[in-house]
This record gives sequence, structure tokens and C-alpha cells, in this order.
Amino acid sequence: MSIEKATKTHLVTIESAGQHEGAEVTLRGWLYNLRESGKLLFPIFRDGTGLMQGVVSQKENPAAFEALRGLTQESSVIVSGRVRAEPRAPGGYELAVSEVEVVQRVPENDPYPIQLKEHGVDFLLDRRHLWIRTPRQAAILRIRAEAIRAAREYMDDQGYILTDTPIFTPAACEGTTTLFEVQYIDEQKAYLTQSGQLYLEATAAALGKVYCFGPTFRAEKSKTRRHLTEFWMLEPEAAYAHLEDMMALGEGLVSHMVQSVLKNRARELETLKRDTSKLAGVKPPFPRITYDEAVETLQKRGNPAKWGDDFGGDEETILSSQFDRPVIVHRYPAAIKAFYMQPDPERRELALGFDTLAPEGYGEIIGGGERIADYDLLVRRLRENNLPEEAFQWYLDLRRYGSVPHAGFGLGLERTVAWICGTEHIREVIPFPRMIYRVYP
Ligand code: ATP
Ligand code: MG
Repeated sequence: MSIEKATKTHLVTIESAGQHEGAEVTLRGWLYNLRESGKLLFPIFRDGTGLMQGVVSQKENPAAFEALRGLTQESSVIVSGRVRAEPRAPGGYELAVSEVEVVQRVPENDPYPIQLKEHGVDFLLDRRHLWIRTPRQAAILRIRAEAIRAAREYMDDQGYILTDTPIFTPAACEGTTTLFEVQYIDEQKAYLTQSGQLYLEATAAALGKVYCFGPTFRAEKSKTRRHLTEFWMLEPEAAYAHLEDMMALGEGLVSHMVQSVLKNRARELETLKRDTSKLAGVKPPFPRITYDEAVETLQKRGNPAKWGDDFGGDEETILSSQFDRPVIVHRYPAAIKAFYMQPDPERRELALGFDTLAPEGYGEIIGGGERIADYDLLVRRLRENNLPEEAFQWYLDLRRYGSVPHAGFGLGLERTVAWICGTEHIREVIPFPRMIYRVYP
């Protein structure tokens, strides 16, 4: 049987094989595992959509039996056979294998390095290009893709226009300590983007409601389970929008992502053994508390936080543990927020900003708020933050020519997906994680 022939027969994916019960089908994939039991073989195949157990008898199918006997893990194979219901098999169906074509045989003397046993995480991260084949990792990546699809769908449905922002930028927008500097052409310096926000403020003035969704870079020097140096951020920005509009948009977006994964990736969540009862209730409205209330709660719980402190992972965990869905904390002290945040007109020491904290200790998944629209105030804030005014002239133009109140936020994709999947560390939810000490593979 050739690849060409196989595509002309009843080619199916493992995910959909159950719909072909009783029929003869062909699968194209890899040998995940093989159990030999005398005159019977029980191979397990994978094809990227799931796992399927096969059964081959030496007596009935000697050729297929010989092709599979002793076949090494991860050898690529095209197999045909009849689908039958088997409640004990993973997925509820098995394949009575009749034909096998080995596309590439993994050599016996150089076996697949990741065996079906526990390995240390550094060992696995060094082999991330292979690790992603394991059912758990593949399930996570399928959930990530669904979360992205749902996020785009939500933003598009809300009338937001995708405007891609640059990755090379002339200046910092989220503080210089996490800036990646790159050598640009002819002695010029550039920096990898820490956020598309400043550019989105320009596209929002051009198009009204906009968003970007792309890679973001931060030279995070501390090792935590929620920071990558390269991650993906979805950032909406809207002209004439205020703090309240963005809190509502964020809760709608997060809820749609969670509900879409629950609906369309139930099998993958099961592979991860995720307790989905903790996700089912993630629907608007999310509880909202002020920063002042948050500090009070922390102090009541014996946390040493004082008014004026920024919250770290521990504080976020305490705050979110009181709720069954994400909690929105708003009106932080201006001093701990970015230079562009609009002060609260009722209390100038507060910024009209908010963070959305995920439950179960996953921390901040959204940070955002209203931006300064006033030219003089923005210039003052740039100076106070020792930022180079020349580099921000184009940004100041947005306050010179038709300035309007506007607001937006950034949602961290990996934090959100890590919470949905229930992974311990966010490094598992991106195909190739970049972290403080890791850029390989
Ligand atoms: P934190 O204080 O948790 O480091 P931040 O306040 O610096 O985050 P923002 O600038 O508000 O983050 O960025 C918006 C969102 O991007 C965050 O809410 C988070 O979900 C995500 N994010 C920020 N930094 C990282 C990172 N290093 N790795 C992964 N996601 C991140
Ligand atoms: Mg933040």
C-alpha cells in the first residue's frame, strides 16, 4: 500500500474514527506503544488527533503481524483495518488491523529518547521538539489553538479590527528593566516590543476599535512559573472607551475563551484530567474589588501588604482564592502603574487601571485601563519617568491631533491557557518556550 493509495481509501483521523464503526478505514500516524502478547499484538497509534488501540492476530493477518512485531516506538506507519467498539480501549474504539505500511522505522540502535515513563522536566525541555508528541502536550497545544481561535472570534464579533503592531520598536513602554535591545541596521539600536499598546492607540484613533495579537518580549530576570521571555498577548484598544468598558470586554473575552474550550476541546481537557467544574461557572459578571479593598483583604488574611505596594504572586493567589471565577481589581496607586495611565479624577493618586486575576493561583491574566488623553499631563509623566521625549513625539501627536478618552488592556495568552489547562508552569502551553535560561530548541 502506498501513501497515494491510502489517500484514495477511506482515510480518517483517530478523532473521527468512532463515526466509522464497522467500516474499513486507513489511519496515517505513528506507533505510540506496542504490547506483545503471544500471537496477538496490541499497538497503540497516534496521529495528532488522539490515540487508538489496534489489535493484530498472527493467524489472521500474518503480514501485518510481522510488520508490527518488534516495531520501534514512534516509527511512522500507515495502517488499515476495521473500526469496532471496544469500551476498554482509550476513546471507546479499536482497530482490527489488516494492513500495515511502515513509512520510517526508528532504528533499534537509536531508539526514540522519550520513553513512556516519567522523565525530568529539563530532559523533556531539551527535547521539546519531540516532547510535544506526547498526548498530554498535544492536548495542551490543541487547547491553545482553540483559545486563540475563540479569542479572535470574540474580538471580531465585537467589531474590533485586527491591526498588527511592530516587533522592532524605538523605545520602552513597560519599563527598561525588561527590555531586549537589538542591534539594528547601521549602528542604530532597536528594542523588541514589550506591548503593542502605544501603536494601538494610533490605530484606534484611525479605526475606532482595534486589537493586536502577537509575540511580546520581556527580559524577565526572575524565574517564576508564570513568566516567559517571549509570550503572546492579545491587546484591544478603543477610542472613547473608559475603564468600565474594558473591564466588561475583558470578562466577556475570557468567558468566551473558557466556554469555547469546554465545548470544543472536552476530550483534551479529559486527557489533562482537568477538573472542569472549576471552569464551567466562568461567565460574566466577574466580581470587582478596588485596590483599597484588596489591601484590606490581604491584611485580614495576615499578608504584610501595605497600601502602595504592588501585588506579587502570593497576594494574587490570596485575592483570587475567595472567588470561583476571575476577580477584577481596579484603581491601583498611580505610582506603581505605567506612565500612560489616566489618573482617577476623584482621587488623583489612583490610576484608572485594572488587573483581572485568574482563580486557582494563576495570577494576573489581564492588565489594562484608561490612557492619559491630555497632552501636558502626558509630557509631565514622560519626564517623571525619565523617558526619552524625542522617541515619543509620534505618540504625543495622538494628543495634539484629535485626542479622545481611550482605554484598552493586554491579555496574556499563556497565563490564560495555563489556567484553563491546569498546568503547573506556563512553559508547557507554548510550543517552544523561551525562558531566562532557555532558548533551545
Ligand atoms: P506581572 O506583574 O505578572 O509580571 P505585568 O503587570 O508586567 O505582569 P502587563 O504589562 O500588565 O503584565 O501585561 C499584560 C498581561 O500579559 C499580563 O496580565 C499577563 O497575563 C501577561 N504577561 C506579562 N508578562 C508576562 C510574561 N513575562 N510571560 C507571560 N505572560 C506575561
Ligand atoms: Mg499588569
